Amino acid sequence: MTPVQRQLFVFDFDWSLADQDTDRYIFEVLAPDLRRYMKTAKLEVQWTDLVAQSLQKIHARGITREQIENTLINMPFHPAMARGVSKLKAEGKTTFFCLSNANSVFINTILKSKGLENLFDQITTNPAEWDESGLLKLRRKVDPNGPQHNCKVGCSPNMCKGEELEAFLAQHGPFDRIVYTGDGSNDFCPILRLRSQDIVCCRSYRGLEKRINEDGQRLGLKAQIRYWAGAWEAEEIYNTLSI
Ligand SMILES: [Mg+2]
Ligand SMILES: [Zn+2]
Repeated sequence: MTPVQRQLFVFDFDWSLADQDTDRYIFEVLAPDLRRYMKTAKLEVQWTDLVAQSLQKIHARGITREQIENTLINMPFHPAMARGVSKLKAEGKTTFFCLSNANSVFINTILKSKGLENLFDQITTNPAEWDESGLLKLRRKVDPNGPQHNCKVGCSPNMCKGEELEAFLAQHGPFDRIVYTGDGSNDFCPILRLRSQDIVCCRSYRGLEKRINEDGQRLGLKAQIRYWAGAWEAEEIYNTLSI
């Protein structure tokens, strides 16, 4: 095997880098009735739009920016994951790219609280910002009023992760090895773009594993798959990927 000179680590955020799902967790903590409502509403409303609407509802109830930030900062985030990525970052040869259907505020708030605000070279996600009243305003990455993406694999209208990965590689690639960490069915489209020398660190028992088993062979998935359940196992894999 030829030595790896340039390596890219791609991270999904919810249940991958972080040990919970930001969009759901803040409502579980701050407004469980809305969390329950979202379970059925998501069948009819696009998920990013539903989270944006739910953020408006908790703002109207008087839930503050500080409460939301404290909830994010206290959301489970496994020390082994922080340790694993920090080691590779410190070695200085790996590029880090975050590709997430959460949003910029959730991700940056959590990264900063873990001392990981400089981890990623790029974060591609749904844009969000606080307004002066403390409302978190969230929009889809792909504007619903503009041209839509062409994904046929099943990405949600807010963003095609496969197209975003291709765009990143066109600008910053090529890389000798890509390592993609993900858990959800929306991580299936981007991993279809990977090559045989690339590695998927797939979290077990979730949507991505199911999709790999159902459609991986049929749709020509080439990357090597390594499974992990706890973040300490992801760290074990990362420790073998120093360059
Ligand atoms: Mg995820
Ligand atoms: Zn897609």
